[in-house]
Amino acid sequence: MATITTPELSVVVPVYNEAAGLLRFYASLMEVLDGLHTTYEIVFVDDGSHDASVKVLHGLQEQTRMIRLVVLTRNFGKEIATTAGIHAARGTAILTLDADGQHPVQRIPDFVAAWRAGARVVVGLRLSNEREGVLKRYGSKVFYGLFNRFAGANLVPGATDFRLIDQSVQQDFVRITERNRITRGLIDWLGYTPVYIPFRAHARIAGRAGYSFAKLIKLAIDSVVSLSISPLYITAYIGAVVLPASTLLGLGMLANALLGDPLHLHATGGAYLMVFTLFLIGILLVSQGIIGLYLSHIHTEAQNRPLYVIDADRSKADIHNA
Ligand code: UDP
Ligand code: MG
Repeated sequence: MATITTPELSVVVPVYNEAAGLLRFYASLMEVLDGLHTTYEIVFVDDGSHDASVKVLHGLQEQTRMIRLVVLTRNFGKEIATTAGIHAARGTAILTLDADGQHPVQRIPDFVAAWRAGARVVVGLRLSNEREGVLKRYGSKVFYGLFNRFAGANLVPGATDFRLIDQSVQQDFVRITERNRITRGLIDWLGYTPVYIPFRAHARIAGRAGYSFAKLIKLAIDSVVSLSISPLYITAYIGAVVLPASTLLGLGMLANALLGDPLHLHATGGAYLMVFTLFLIGILLVSQGIIGLYLSHIHTEAQNRPLYVIDADRSKADIHNA
């Protein structure tokens, strides 16, 4: 293997309390990488593990120069850890991979082949796993359905963090500065057309998933907030219905009363109060919605994403991403 300063392939692996399975994972990964006949580096990012993960990684690093190790001060969460690894990677292609053995390393050659054939983003598409809890399986189905509907996004169910990006995509990715981030969502946002590689997830080698149900809910909420501003418009939409409807209803009732109740409504004081209350609620919803509109502008400004991403390969002008 040649120099590791610019390897062809970087493998980025976020690690959180994986000591028990790390050696087995590493052995299986090395077997595949050596079979690829390419230059590579493995960037392990320790995400504040409380177990012996860092010790195990130090031990591995002593054996080979292909390993680079980024140790975060505390647990920042997988998304940030993966981001740190992508930032540190020096390869011309960067593959992200879970350390728990769930992403089958045997498929890595397929990712590399797709990249060599020209794909800039290659995404592992997870086929459903029978052993997975019903809650998680249907939970994710419902989430993707709702998300795509309300966020106007096109997240593909089963698209995972088992993915490969070209160095040019890494450069775009680095320009994204927001803190609350979903790595795969941001890579999707960059807009390159992905090539999908379906795979069946293995069971964890050892240890437990670092994601509790509560963490998954938070992840889902973060995805919506990060990738969509439409929830901010919801009150505006409701207000836009309630306000004119209650206005019309109130005016109709008033006209009816003035004309001597031709509709025979026999409207009581309570009914008028009800309609008037609805009217006031409508005003409140609309004003909240207006705040939502301004907030959405502040939100997108605060995210400070690059305005656009240029597809350098297909552009003819002599320009590059700023
Ligand atoms: N992970 C991490 N930080 C965390 C939680 C998980 O770096 O706070 C790593 C973990 O070590 C593994 C990958 O992210 O390599 C996927 O985590 P996990 O298996 O817990 O999640 P799931 O398989 O449910 O997506
Ligand atoms: Mg896992």
